[in-house]
Amino acid sequence: MDFLPIFVDIKSRPCLVVGGGEVAARKVELLLRAEADVRVIAPALGVSLGELRDARRVRHLARAFEDDDVAGNALVIAATDDPEVNRRISKLCREREQPVNVVDQPALCSFIMPSIIDRSPVVVAVSTGGASPVLARLMRARLEALIPSAFGQLAELAREFREQVKARLDDSGARRRFWEKVLDGPVAEMVFAGRRDSARSALASTLEDESSAPVGEVYLVGAGPGEPDLLTSRAIRLMQRADVVVYDRLVSDGVLDLTRRDAQRIYAGKERSRHALPQESINQLLVRLAGEGQRVLRLKGGDPFIFGRGGEEIEELAAHGIPFQIVPGITAASGCAAFAGIPLTHRDYAHSCAFVTGHLKGDRPNLNWKSLVQPQQTLVIYMGLVGLPIICDQLIRHGMRESMPAALIERGTTSRQRIYAGTLKSLPGIVERAGARAPTLTIIGEVVRLRDKLSWFEPRSSDAAAESAG
Ligand code: SAH
Repeated sequence: MDFLPIFVDIKSRPCLVVGGGEVAARKVELLLRAEADVRVIAPALGVSLGELRDARRVRHLARAFEDDDVAGNALVIAATDDPEVNRRISKLCREREQPVNVVDQPALCSFIMPSIIDRSPVVVAVSTGGASPVLARLMRARLEALIPSAFGQLAELAREFREQVKARLDDSGARRRFWEKVLDGPVAEMVFAGRRDSARSALASTLEDESSAPVGEVYLVGAGPGEPDLLTSRAIRLMQRADVVVYDRLVSDGVLDLTRRDAQRIYAGKERSRHALPQESINQLLVRLAGEGQRVLRLKGGDPFIFGRGGEEIEELAAHGIPFQIVPGITAASGCAAFAGIPLTHRDYAHSCAFVTGHLKGDRPNLNWKSLVQPQQTLVIYMGLVGLPIICDQLIRHGMRESMPAALIERGTTSRQRIYAGTLKSLPGIVERAGARAPTLTIIGEVVRLRDKLSWFEPRSSDAAAESAG
């Protein structure tokens, strides 16, 4: 280890920054975040430091650096553009065992500044010992995504209850188990979901009744259209936490692979007219599993609230007093549109976009055709493969022109994505001849034409057999 990581308390302590430019300003801002008393020495200040001086957040000495300046500071930072001055500051400080940092010159530093992830009071610092600041920044970006932004609030909440917990649980082992349960359980999830008041009362009642039976919870999570890296970071975090996974047919193997290895997996199915589990049984299953104290991940394709029957599931959970949270996912319409290069709305061609189900009730879709045939409107049809010929025919009968551009996207966003493009009249034939298989999504409207213009942007153009019958 080249450097010892420590966190220094510089609240109200004198700190010196030499240099007036933007690099100096960034260091000053950091020192101010830790509430230091900052003095800046530089003949002139740049814009950012000028503003901080005007706001009286730093003191400015408008002159060149002098040797005596280093004395009496908790920290000294050299950020001038004169290598000679920087070297001199370093030397003076080192002679006095005075902590010094020279920006971007690890060899002249007695301390270096890490990349930080600030979830105050939680702070994570990353350093490569000066070997590669860019690598440190990349690692920071990964950690940023991994550590929920509400982590700081969770720590605040823990601080708030710390004394109370100490008073109630005098055994240190019991305290540790209590905090593990709180910080890695429903209370933490409530904080992450922005429900601080619920979290506070849940924490209080957990403390109140340490011996109560465990209560599980349900995460209703949108898994997106198939491509694993389209999951949200919240989805991934909950996927790693859950003890049981109840998933639908549309959830891809790649996504399922990201759930915890040792979690139990239950297939809840749903294929057209061949439901693996009826909805009612799924609702009851979720209630039963959570009732046993398990963390249940209900994983659904796309977004749980768009043709996902998520509403019915949470109604049942709410009726049984089971805590749950909902994580949105990228719905098939956004995923397929993006990967096919078809904008769903457009200033010139589409001012509205309707998501409709093409699922057949009896033998035909039960839709309000008139409302669907509107100028400047894009139609996105979910579950419409079998009904496609009827849908196109009904739209034409209700006044949409036969030449209206239309596309059907099969397994959108995945490496097996295929796009079939045509018109309202030609698309059913094209799709039938090609033998397209579910899941597919149909987009109808002028915007489909833009695909030709935007196809250079199609992320999967090399894999996708894009058939244009345009
Ligand atoms: N909740 C899901 C939709 C469930 S309904 C969502 O928000 O996306 C199932 C329908 O979604 C399928 O019949 C199909 O029309 C569409 N769909 C889901 N994933 C798809 C994909 N990768 N490619 C094309 N269509 C998809």
